[in-house]
Amino acid sequence: MIRPSEVASKVKKLEDENLRFCSWLKAHADEEELDARFRTLHEKLFVDYDCCQCANCCREFQTKVKPREISAMAEQLGMTVFEFAEKYTIMIDDDGERTRGFDAPCPMLATDGSCRVQACKPEECVSFPHTDKPDRLSSMYSVLSAASICPVVLEILQRLKQMYGFRRR
Ligand code: SF4
Ligand code: SF4
Repeated sequence: MIRPSEVASKVKKLEDENLRFCSWLKAHADEEELDARFRTLHEKLFVDYDCCQCANCCREFQTKVKPREISAMAEQLGMTVFEFAEKYTIMIDDDGERTRGFDAPCPMLATDGSCRVQACKPEECVSFPHTDKPDRLSSMYSVLSAASICPVVLEILQRLKQMYGFRRR
């Protein structure tokens, strides 16, 4: 598996190839089979992966948070909802709508790469990078976006290319 610090340079080199692979999948892949392959690779690769050694998603992406998630995190840190929201959240744009969230790098990220609110972290953190979810074929933009920072998603893409016998040229 590629090191987290090397993902950005590797992805730059693979940019054209990854775009061609996504187009190729759209033209040739069976949706259900592709979802199953994504899910299998996701489970296999994440099972032993220590995300604390990476934390690229916590450093690079903003995170939307729901009001009930703010309440839970505030309680865990012994703060009022108002104090927590004022100190740690910003307003971010969510497809034209304004919502509260964490800026990047996330203020909940501890220096050892762990999450200070692990037990009640936002749904968006739990579900990232979505590679075990259905409809991957229509979500390839999101897959490529995740691959731009996530070593596991990049590895999944590389293995999918092998599985499908994709010719890299
Ligand atoms: S809440 Fe935790 S898991 Fe989510 S981005 Fe922040 S540090 Fe990462
Ligand atoms: S989900 Fe991906 S980017 Fe986020 S910490 Fe884990 S390996 Fe890194």
